[in-house]
Amino acid sequence: MKTRARVSALMVILSIYFAIPGDASPHDQDMDPFRILRHDMVRRQIEEPPGFRDPVQDNRVLSAMRAVPRHLFVNAKDISRAYGDHPLPIGYGQTISQPYIVALMTKMLEVKSEHRVLEVGTGSGYQAAILSALVKQVYTVEIVEPLGKQAADRLKRLGYENIHVKIGDGYFGWEEKAPFDRIIVTCAATLVPSPLLRQLKPGGKMCIPVGGQYTVQYLTTVEKPQEGAITMKKSIPVRFVPLVQQ
Ligand code: SAH
Repeated sequence: MKTRARVSALMVILSIYFAIPGDASPHDQDMDPFRILRHDMVRRQIEEPPGFRDPVQDNRVLSAMRAVPRHLFVNAKDISRAYGDHPLPIGYGQTISQPYIVALMTKMLEVKSEHRVLEVGTGSGYQAAILSALVKQVYTVEIVEPLGKQAADRLKRLGYENIHVKIGDGYFGWEEKAPFDRIIVTCAATLVPSPLLRQLKPGGKMCIPVGGQYTVQYLTTVEKPQEGAITMKKSIPVRFVPLVQQ
């Protein structure tokens, strides 16, 4: 009886010890209560998705998707839906993309750790945060000033030091930082912007949704070879907010 009482007392002490949150930061994976949801998101939506989708099984991409705290990139009222299989509104008529699309585009880019990458359409900063772990530097341009500022603050607060945010029209890329090894456009363009083609390094690759606001858009991979003509390859139909011009 006495031993049982002692064991229960110990259990109580241990459960209190483990229940008290320590110095929990979003990067402290073990203390993050959203970790299970995030791992579940990766497995069910990306790694082993429903039959109509091609799985993304690139380990570097999957671990980045497991690490970035997506719930800190959505509006507070949507936090419970952050790991759902859908895009979410982030204000100003814009959206954070569906997790599967973020993973797919990241895989399509075939990034390497020494790469410098340009993103057009910072939005919440989530896609930039995913790339941050996989490449050397991320340059991201957002046209809606309050969204760009919010994303820059958020990324700084979360400790992403290799992401640089600029407010401006991403149609024109980021001339002073060009050329880039990779370019990712997360809003839909009717045609691939020529400044972006110019700012892509020979041997570089771009992933961009191409199509109008009310027509079908296709995720398109653009490759600029060391020599010869640029090639474009269409893949799946997608739905992105339009690339707007000032
Ligand atoms: N990558 C974002 C989602 C992008 S939504 C994320 O991870 O959350 C598309 C974004 O592109 C919107 O924020 C929109 O304001 C921005 N955008 C649209 N046209 C643009 C342009 N010409 N230049 C830069 N950003 C643009």
